[in-house]
Amino acid sequence: MNRDLERELQARFPRFFRDLHGDPRKTGMSRGCEFADGWYRLLERLCEELEPVAPPEFQFDQVKEKFGRMRIYARNGNEETMRLIHQAAEESLRVCEECGATEGVTTEWAEWLRTLCRSCLVCRRRRLGVNPTNTNEDDAE
Ligand SMILES: [Zn+2]
Repeated sequence: MNRDLERELQARFPRFFRDLHGDPRKTGMSRGCEFADGWYRLLERLCEELEPVAPPEFQFDQVKEKFGRMRIYARNGNEETMRLIHQAAEESLRVCEECGATEGVTTEWAEWLRTLCRSCLVCRRRRLGVNPTNTNEDDAE
């Protein structure tokens, strides 16, 4: 994610992002939030929902994309923080990771399994030099 956006979230929710860009030997946050900017609003809303329910020591350990889904590891949470994180992960499957669109979103192969809207998927596949409408990368003409 864009560093300015990360800094913005860190400024608003400092305790969650305590380890942002920290020592890679100590935190999974060293590389920042590892997904495209389309999920920024989703992460922002998650932070807003976590704020009133998260224990004081709660913090993110890793924020990334895996198998087309937002994946967040956190420390010192509780049942409610786990539920909210799970909910955001489920919702990420309906939001384009590149542009934030919620229409025509699918989770398909584009270098790796990604959740993208139709136009971002086509765009991504063009850049990769594969048939943009083919769903099977081994089947290119
Ligand atoms: Zn998109």
